[in-house]
Amino acid sequence: MVSSSTLPNGFIESLESIVGADHVRTDDLSRDAYGVDALQRGRRPDIVVLPGRTTEVANIARACDQALVPLTARGAGTGYTGGAVPLAGGVVLSLERMNQIIEIDTASLLAIVEPNVVTADLQAAVEQLGLFYPPDPASLSRSVIGGNVAECAGGPRAFKYGTTKRYVLGLEAVLPTGQVIRTGGKSVKNVVGYDLTQLLVGSEGTLAIVTQVILRLIPRPPARATLRATFPSISRALEAVGTMVADGVVPAALELMDADCIRAIERHHGAETSSEVAAVLLIEVDGMPTSIIEEGERVTHACTAADGLITAASDETERDRLWSDRRDLSLVLRALAPRKINHDVVVPKGRILHLFEVIDRLKTVYRLPMPSFGHVGDGNIHVNILIDPADAEAMRRAEHAERQLFEEVVALDGSISGEHGVGFSKAQFLGLELSSETIALMRRLKQAFDPNGILNPGKIFPKTDKDADQVP
Ligand SMILES: Cc1cc2nc3c(=O)[nH]c(=O)nc-3n(C[C@H](O)[C@H](O)[C@H](O)COP(=O)(O)OP(=O)(O)OC[C@H]3O[C@@H](n4cnc5c(N)ncnc54)[C@H](O)[C@@H]3O)c2cc1C
Repeated sequence: MVSSSTLPNGFIESLESIVGADHVRTDDLSRDAYGVDALQRGRRPDIVVLPGRTTEVANIARACDQALVPLTARGAGTGYTGGAVPLAGGVVLSLERMNQIIEIDTASLLAIVEPNVVTADLQAAVEQLGLFYPPDPASLSRSVIGGNVAECAGGPRAFKYGTTKRYVLGLEAVLPTGQVIRTGGKSVKNVVGYDLTQLLVGSEGTLAIVTQVILRLIPRPPARATLRATFPSISRALEAVGTMVADGVVPAALELMDADCIRAIERHHGAETSSEVAAVLLIEVDGMPTSIIEEGERVTHACTAADGLITAASDETERDRLWSDRRDLSLVLRALAPRKINHDVVVPKGRILHLFEVIDRLKTVYRLPMPSFGHVGDGNIHVNILIDPADAEAMRRAEHAERQLFEEVVALDGSISGEHGVGFSKAQFLGLELSSETIALMRRLKQAFDPNGILNPGKIFPKTDKDADQVP
């Protein structure tokens, strides 16, 4: 692979001839801006290219492949594992100009979109037509469908509705060698050949560049109710969750915040501390108006039986307020320390209490703030280690804490990532969860898609010697 100092002569000009000089950037400001994501550990690309259509993406890929220049696709750059960071320099291909909703087909219940349609914009557009696109990462006002597909993004509604992969019917994608492929299609059933659609979903931009997505939609639930319950302990909150699920309620969202998160939100609002509250559940039920009344009653019963104090949002403003506390939490926590290391570990639902016991132990042993919250219905908890990178000793403790967290999660039959992917920040831990045979097969798949290894090098797989010194 060529390095930044050895870009072939005429390479920049060849990109300009594909997309036009206005859409090729080599200035420092652009290289800085397109070299980072939400992980906050970046690496500048040499060139930023902004194609406007699939044929341009294909020609850029071909040019990079022929010249062995690294190529990294970028959506909105909200990823948490450094997926969009061009570890080896080269070209960042930003899909921001490919941001159109091509079609919403109300009869077939599907939407066809370009990759950089903002998730919330798609949701708003389909809801106007009485339809629903459920995946709702907390970043939905910024993240885009291509990035969601590449990471298989989830969100609070995954408990009832599943994650992005459940809604991807088909893809148009550009291989790193420049060929355009189409996978899946418009029908909800399709068992012809290997399921390449689902292989590409969650492949973190390492196999192909997604240029068009066919998404399944469902009818919009006509009514919803949002409730917030406070509890004296995590275990009582989990007891309430167990009771409501056993009682037949499948909430559209079931979010848990621990005491540290609650305190952070209270401080953010300048509110008084409610020290007796150790856990908050945010619960949303949706469906037919009559069924949500019944489900709301069952939720209330489950919470009060576990000593929960429950309040229901009386209108949309109140609902938005409850949800904005949850959606803002990530950014509120980030403001508390120079660095927030965010891990989205997941365990089988029956083991969430064990996971919180592990987190409590790690906080004490490693003397680190670790506010935790997440999608309790899925067993998917965001464990945030707040740290000052300038404090080398604390950083060492954090590294031990994170390795131990991953080991214990795997021992609980869980996974080191439920939503955010591996990127480069978790690549060194892949072997904790996957066998060497599985990793070897994945490497062979990567090789089949990307024989020259130009697409998003350094991601998912443990570092090779070649990449070792590239990690920022
Ligand atoms: C405040 C905040 C809250 C978040 N909450 C959630 C959450 O609730 N759930 C969740 O799952 N995630 C969450 N995230 C993480 C992030 O938003 C998701 O991973 C999201 O899917 C990334 O989308 P993006 O458009 O920003 O992708 P980027 O960060 O730009 O890219 C992510 C990866 O996708 C690849 N990629 C991007 N576009 C394409 C394409 N067209 N073709 C091929 N590969 C591509 C990139 O190469 C990279 O590997 C959150 C992040 C933030 C900052």
